[in-house]
Amino acid sequence: MMSFYDKVALVTGAGSGIGQATAIAFAKRGANVVAADVDTDGLKMTKSIAQEYDGSISSVRVDAANSASVEEMISTATSQFGRLDYACNIAGITGTECGFTDCTEENWDKVINVNLKGVWLCMKYQLRQMLKQGHGSIVNMSSVAGLVGMNDRLAPYGPSKFGVVGLTKSAALEFARQNIRINAVCPGEIMTPMQEAYIKNSPELETKAIDSEPIGRFGIPDEVAEAVLWLCSDAASFVTGHAMAIDGGYVAQ
Ligand code: NAD
Repeated sequence: MMSFYDKVALVTGAGSGIGQATAIAFAKRGANVVAADVDTDGLKMTKSIAQEYDGSISSVRVDAANSASVEEMISTATSQFGRLDYACNIAGITGTECGFTDCTEENWDKVINVNLKGVWLCMKYQLRQMLKQGHGSIVNMSSVAGLVGMNDRLAPYGPSKFGVVGLTKSAALEFARQNIRINAVCPGEIMTPMQEAYIKNSPELETKAIDSEPIGRFGIPDEVAEAVLWLCSDAASFVTGHAMAIDGGYVAQ
């Protein structure tokens, strides 16, 4: 099992789903985890689940789409631990169901602001700290919807996730010589509260999601968390600018 004893890991979106599983996976392996989310009840739940593990877990409320809030999150994390070894930018939303002709500007801006601008803002302040300390590893949350087009009536979602892949690759090149690695994960259909909300009231959507996965089932948050931790770890020391599909074979089709 990978050990993260004495390492400092910041995870956004840590109040639910994949972010929660990632924060807990770090705590299980001895890391000092800073769990960040806009949902403070979710953070309480994450802290209570992680309590039984070796690592410490502290929480901070953040709106990932708000610059001042993100800057505050980073300064809280670094004043507590003095450094930031890993940062996992997982917070995200699907937005309201819509296609490209009926999407409102408000919905478009909201999704892009959280999913794409939010990742950039988090990276901006994480990178400033990592440059100061001389090392770091960042993992951003994209999706299979950031690798291939989707006809899913979530018009801004796919573009936001393609943006995360572009942001990850460009930033990885900018910081490759500074001992900072930046990668992305691109999950397929993972059973989380976000997924439950999407398929709720529609057995057809659920069947369609399972059928779309060559492996024939939904993934679980822990299966994504394991990949995030590997990309953060020294085991992935020659991996940067990579967008890793964790998708039961979805993009292999
Ligand atoms: P989730 O809804 O269970 O968790 C998302 C978390 O992000 C929530 O705790 C929410 O409060 C937080 N969040 C939302 N907006 C925020 C903001 N502005 N600032 C801070 N926190 C905010 O969803 P999930 O399924 O665990 O998704 C996590 C990430 O994985 C998302 O970026 C999502 O797009 C991505 N993803 C999910 C799937 C899937 O099938 N579940 C597939 C591919 C990618």
